[in-house]
Amino acid sequence: MPDEPLSGTALFDAVVNLCKRRGFVFPSAEIYGGIRSTYDYGPLGALMLRNVKDAWWRAMIQERDDVVPLDAAILTNPKVWEASGHLATFTDPLVDCRNCNERSRADHLTAGDDGRLVCPHCGSTDLTEARPFNLMFKTFVGPVESEAAVAYLRPETAQGMFVNFANVQTTMRRKPPFGIAQLGRSFRNEITPGNFVFRTREFEQMEMEYFVPPADSPKWFEYWCGERMAWYKKYGIADDLLRLRQHDAEELSHYSAATADVEFAFPWGWGELEGVANRTDFDLKAHSEHSGVRLEYFDQATGERYVPHVIEPAAGATRTMMAFLIAAYSEDEVGGERRTVLRLDPRLAPYQVAVLPLSKKEELTPLTAEVLTLCRRRFMCEHDSTQSIGRRYRRQDEIGTPFCVTVDFDSLVDRAVTVRERDTTAQERVPVSGLLSYLTERIGL
Ligand code: ATP
Repeated sequence: MPDEPLSGTALFDAVVNLCKRRGFVFPSAEIYGGIRSTYDYGPLGALMLRNVKDAWWRAMIQERDDVVPLDAAILTNPKVWEASGHLATFTDPLVDCRNCNERSRADHLTAGDDGRLVCPHCGSTDLTEARPFNLMFKTFVGPVESEAAVAYLRPETAQGMFVNFANVQTTMRRKPPFGIAQLGRSFRNEITPGNFVFRTREFEQMEMEYFVPPADSPKWFEYWCGERMAWYKKYGIADDLLRLRQHDAEELSHYSAATADVEFAFPWGWGELEGVANRTDFDLKAHSEHSGVRLEYFDQATGERYVPHVIEPAAGATRTMMAFLIAAYSEDEVGGERRTVLRLDPRLAPYQVAVLPLSKKEELTPLTAEVLTLCRRRFMCEHDSTQSIGRRYRRQDEIGTPFCVTVDFDSLVDRAVTVRERDTTAQERVPVSGLLSYLTERIGL
């Protein structure tokens, strides 16, 4: 029976604790005391993060014929950031506390009774005036640390797609509507990172730029809002934990005709997982002006020429992984014993299959090895022969492994294994010859 679900701080703490204890996420360089709000993904986190990105890649690229992938450089010509507006306007308002010297983002602070902003660290209202702080990490390319050698770590993956618009469109012979998608690391010198991996200075994004004829952009904006909401639900986030929030005129970026955020009910409140924006022709026009290279679509058959408008669904992979973990976390009782279980979609779980010989006796070794080799052809598998079978099931439940395959002494006679399902704990005897298709059908890969 499932318990009353955990919520708020208790849920947050339970997930963070599980991540550390079971090797999903570690504080970065922990042996040196870490570095604030920076994390390393452990073995299980690396597997799961990869699965989140694969799920996005399947939906956005593999299963479509109108979107192509790209993998652009992180360090690029700084003129890109001048044209995109990042150099001038990619800033957050920064305030210093005169009492405790901590820095905060002014737009994240609340005002006290007298209307003055309150320092979240010490409660003082003696804060400096807000001043813009650019979030891009600056570095130097080459051996000379001069102004001419300045470069930036990309703060988003999107610009790589805009500056390659003509390259991709012509080499792939694409006609709008079509998209360019990429995923990868982005860097922002956030003033106040926090809430575990929700806001970090180094993170992974999954972004797509969808180029459309200008008149069709409202239609495609609606379409992508629907597609992206459906993706999170397909991978297991319940309806009541997800919402689409439209930006009102005040919140809209200067380049955007419409923006909606996909938000998740984090333990501390609603938080953005992805922004879907109608960016109009802002980016292609800006790069055309700054580079002197025309970025537009020309239809040879009709002689039509126009600058496509862009619909951008921009998601965060690391933040999304955290949302999937929170949504999946539960505690219940089976057979009078308490367990923690991650009810992850099988495709997102670090391991899809655990192969567990009933005992360590040598007789079971060859068949266990055979079953493992078979399952590893398609799935990420764990092999565990320590402790009692009950404890091993619990350990797999806790990391979300959807199927445990047990090789026992009967298996040597009937060449069948017992498959146990994580959520129901139901067990079924399955012939080894049909095991791969049995699992494939249920895991959905
Ligand atoms: P926020 O308002 O939370 O700072 P944003 O609106 O600036 O986010 P975008 O520029 O739209 O974010 O980036 C797209 C996605 O990238 C976000 O929805 C989020 O999932 C992810 N993202 C952005 N900044 C961070 C960060 N510092 N850490 C982790 N993920 C991030």
